[in-house]
Amino acid sequence: MTAGKSLAITISESTLAFLQRTARELETQNNRHTATPVFRIYEEIKVEKRDGCGDHLERLDYEGAEDHYCSHCKDLLGEEMDFDKLPSIGEDGCDCNYIDEAHWTFDVELLPAQGGYDGVAFLTEKAAQEYLESNSYHFDKGVVYAESAFRNHELNALIEAIKEIGEVSA
Ligand SMILES: [Zn+2]
Repeated sequence: MTAGKSLAITISESTLAFLQRTARELETQNNRHTATPVFRIYEEIKVEKRDGCGDHLERLDYEGAEDHYCSHCKDLLGEEMDFDKLPSIGEDGCDCNYIDEAHWTFDVELLPAQGGYDGVAFLTEKAAQEYLESNSYHFDKGVVYAESAFRNHELNALIEAIKEIGEVSA
């Protein structure tokens, strides 16, 4: 550390513990070849594709979509509307895969988790991993990825500050 200004400050035990713990983690974690990584949770998300361009095909299942199903599937649904009776799309007499209004086409891509997780990033991989593990039911095959925060000068300065305080207070 370069010469600095000596400053007496009082901070709470819990803040000090947080700073030291986080600083230690920042210094020792695998930075995944990125100088300033932040860690985000990714999950498998279905991304709609043009018909014929997606790897997967599914019956649409919004309320009322069944009105567009093939006659075979409509018969199977009957009065009870038991969707478990339907065969896999395009199999065993089902023609829903030929009816535009009855199905959609998609790819499954690994993307940053959505639904409240836009912009949620963790400073340490450990924190991201712990969050993922205790909330895994929120995510579809969730996994932690490192992204670079090098263009974010505020976050970079903050990360350096945490390391510095952790070091001088150790
Ligand atoms: Zn069908």
